[in-house]
Amino acid sequence: MQKDPTIAFNQVTHTYEGKYSKKFAISNLDFKIFSGEFVTIIGPSGCGKTTILNLIAGLLSPTNGDIYVDNVPPNNLLSKKSIGMVFQSPAILPWLNVFQNLLLPLQINPSNDNGSDNESLAGDILSIIQMEDYADFYPHQLSGGMKQRVGVGMSLIFDPKILLLDEPLGSLDEITRSYMRFDLINMLRNRNKTIVMVTHSIEDAVLMSDRIIILSKSPGTFSTEIKLDFSSKRTHDLEYQSEFLSYVNQVKKSLSIAYDFKFR
Ligand code: ADP
Ligand code: MG
Repeated sequence: MQKDPTIAFNQVTHTYEGKYSKKFAISNLDFKIFSGEFVTIIGPSGCGKTTILNLIAGLLSPTNGDIYVDNVPPNNLLSKKSIGMVFQSPAILPWLNVFQNLLLPLQINPSNDNGSDNESLAGDILSIIQMEDYADFYPHQLSGGMKQRVGVGMSLIFDPKILLLDEPLGSLDEITRSYMRFDLINMLRNRNKTIVMVTHSIEDAVLMSDRIIILSKSPGTFSTEIKLDFSSKRTHDLEYQSEFLSYVNQVKKSLSIAYDFKFR
């Protein structure tokens, strides 16, 4: 018998309503994500990806349908800090150094402020994100990839069971990005976390995740899914393997069916 899913969307619709207009962001969306999986939800800009993450985090409530995270509606989990988020542009403060930025989430939630324990925790996180030599550097002294490492470090500070990644490599140049994918995998995998990433990058989706959920065009709904099972390890070399290219083509085909792309 299959275990209960960690995240379940049952016929979820979300609309943004203004005074004069109503925008369907996602419509009748169904999917399940199980403990320990790394799932990528892929679709173009505007198809509802950030909305989906905000719904999982309990920051938005569905207009229709049900969402369960660990068998309860996600807004029940808000105070438990069991969900971490990584954004496209890391939410770091320019007047704090790397070490102080890592401690920031704990200071915003003083109930978790254990003083010296927190400093050793931030030290551990510095080592996970491989930034030990940059602890007292300020954001303007860091490269884009380093800033994103700090963003990842901040999301790990509460040791959340679920990590939500919103186009985490989107602000990086193509070359940094192609290496940072595997750094991220090394930072996040084998830590007993359930990871949901949203992106419009086919390469990120194929190289990083266990399963890809393909959304239809806006308003986003489930189109199809592809399980990724590589015979070799997830390293930078994977990009040159035929297996990688065949998965990329599979995703492209599914996306072109989902979006009915013509020449544009
Ligand atoms: P994505 O992350 O895939 O680019 P979003 O989830 O941000 O998509 O947005 C989905 C749709 O909902 C878009 O058409 C967007 O314009 C609209 N939308 C997003 N946030 C809001 C909001 N706060 N108010 C009104 N419309 C919104
Ligand atoms: Mg978005």
